[in-house]
Amino acid sequence: MKHAIIVGFGLAGFHYALELQKNNKDFLIISNEGEGASRNAGGVFNPTVLKRFTMSWRGNEFFDQATSTYRYFEKTYKTKVFHKTPINYYFNNLSDHNNWIVASHKSGLDHFLSPQIINIADEGLKAEFGYAKLKNVGKLDINKALEEFIKRLDLKSYSSKVFDYGKLKLLDNKVKYMGVEAKHIIFCEGFQLRKNPWFSYLPLIGSKGEFLHIKTKKLSQKKIIKSGLFVVPIQTDLFWVGSNFDRKDKTSKPTKSGKDWILSKLKRLLDFPFEVVDHKAAIRPTVQDRRPLLGSHPKEKNLYVFNGLGTRGVLTGPLLAKWMYRFVVEKKKLPSEVAIERFETYFSYPKKQDV
Ligand SMILES: Cc1cc2nc3c(=O)[nH]c(=O)nc-3n(C[C@H](O)[C@H](O)[C@H](O)COP(=O)(O)OP(=O)(O)OC[C@H]3O[C@@H](n4cnc5c(N)ncnc54)[C@H](O)[C@@H]3O)c2cc1C
Repeated sequence: MKHAIIVGFGLAGFHYALELQKNNKDFLIISNEGEGASRNAGGVFNPTVLKRFTMSWRGNEFFDQATSTYRYFEKTYKTKVFHKTPINYYFNNLSDHNNWIVASHKSGLDHFLSPQIINIADEGLKAEFGYAKLKNVGKLDINKALEEFIKRLDLKSYSSKVFDYGKLKLLDNKVKYMGVEAKHIIFCEGFQLRKNPWFSYLPLIGSKGEFLHIKTKKLSQKKIIKSGLFVVPIQTDLFWVGSNFDRKDKTSKPTKSGKDWILSKLKRLLDFPFEVVDHKAAIRPTVQDRRPLLGSHPKEKNLYVFNGLGTRGVLTGPLLAKWMYRFVVEKKKLPSEVAIERFETYFSYPKKQDV
């Protein structure tokens, strides 16, 4: 019998599986490849909130765990996926200079915000109000990390199929799916959780983001730019540029208005022509109260959910996976901010329409 079945292999499934692997627990991952937020994300790793120049929620804790997990992964898998890359933050107005300088001297933030304001832009960039640097931040090559992990799994540990909810059998102390028995099942489905018959009651709102890939020889590979949107180097002469936030449209279809928005921001920043080579969209798994969704089903105790990584899965995934593991395996309590018990009043069972 397997220890667990994991449904969905984005950042949540990856971090949970990594946690199981570290603890010598056997698993089967079932995930339809190529979909979801993780494989489309910019991969930016930054624990500060640039709109307000503050630390993000539990930013220091998430930062410490993420740094150590990604280093561990690189060492164990002998690969390079986690790049320490500065972010150059371009100001929108002069009044932010003072706010930045004040923030850069605060304990905690001083680890990330360099106090110096630079008034001369890099070649080819327009910077009316100058910029400042974020240090100790960077990017994760998410696609490479996920691929490196899958590559080393045997055929019994990974299946690139859509999970069929109707085929899951809930037995006394285990679950069974198409002949495979496991102690429990963890749903790490990102926005597709909304189709899950057991957990669709949770208020996963979703926030669509569109992005472009652009080609240019004029931008540096050695820094990320933040100027309304992020410009992230992905390989020689190729950059990820995004992204907008749309809470109404719940499709993964790229739109003309999304592209126009990105291009207008980009043209305000870049003083040279570039080639757009791709345009895509995906949905971030954001939650009503902006906190993750971790826990077990209110009635079916062998069913678990690990979701709600929102806009910062690279940063939060590693520590959340640890909390999840301790909850599932060691029966430790989850921090109340992330436990799905906070939405227990949303749950009705059996579903009203079935009664
Ligand atoms: C445009 C965009 C840019 C972003 N940029 C950043 C960034 O720079 N930094 C950052 O930290 N975060 C970023 N994010 C957010 C980040 O992508 C998410 O926090 C994170 O990827 C969510 O991971 P997840 O594993 O929960 O979901 P997902 O990545 O969506 O993974 C879920 C996986 O499960 C699969 N799945 C679901 N249901 C089933 C089923 N029934 N059967 C089989 N497979 C199933 C899906 O196909 C998918 O592959 C961005 C998101 C978007 C959309």
